[in-house]
Amino acid sequence: MRCFRHDAVEAVGTCKACGRGLCRECARQSLRSLSCGGDCAPVVEIDESMLEFQVWGAKFIGVCMLGLGGCFGAWGVVSWLRGATDGLLLSVGLVLMSLGLLSVTHRRSHSRR
Ligand SMILES: [Zn+2]
Ligand SMILES: [Zn+2]
Repeated sequence: MRCFRHDAVEAVGTCKACGRGLCRECARQSLRSLSCGGDCAPVVEIDESMLEFQVWGAKFIGVCMLGLGGCFGAWGVVSWLRGATDGLLLSVGLVLMSLGLLSVTHRRSHSRR
C-alpha cells in the first residue's frame, strides 16, 4: 500500500479512522494507533480515550466488587464469630471478591499486550 498523499512512498501504517495508507512523514502517532491528521486525528483520539475510559471503568467496577466482597466477607465472619451460622454473607462476599479479582486481573493482562 502507498501513502495517500505521496504516491511514490510505501505506507508504514493505516489511519485508524479512514483506513488510508500513511508514510512515516504523514502518520500521526496517537497513544496506540495512527491517524492521517486533519479530520481523523480528533476521531482517533476520541476513540482511544473512550477505550481508555472503558478499561478504567471495568477496573473501577472490579475494585468496587472487591471492596464490597471484602465488606460482605468481613460481615459474614463477624456474624459467624457471634454464633450466627449464616454462611450466605460469606459466600456472597467470596463470589463478589473473586468476580472483582477476575475482572481486575483480566483487564491488567489485556492492557499489557
Ligand atoms: Zn484518516
Ligand atoms: Zn506521505
